[in-house]
Amino acid sequence: MICEKFEKCAFFKKHKKVLGSPQQYQLLVEHYCHGPLMSRCARLTYEKEKGEKPPVNLSPIGEYM
Ligand code: SF4
Repeated sequence: MICEKFEKCAFFKKHKKVLGSPQQYQLLVEHYCHGPLMSRCARLTYEKEKGEKPPVNLSPIGEYM
């Protein structure tokens, strides 16, 4: 299953090239956007709880870049 927001996810659009390494990007995608931690993605949680789009810098882990 892939997150429905993946193609347009503001976080990855902005940070894909500047995340620490390609491996780091891949790990986030595998665990969150395509994987078992999707339901715990901080971006999805933020949007659900606040009813607004999360800040672009909020990572799926919940850290601000
Ligand atoms: S970071 Fe979160 S909102 Fe963005 S594509 Fe991945 S799971 Fe979806």
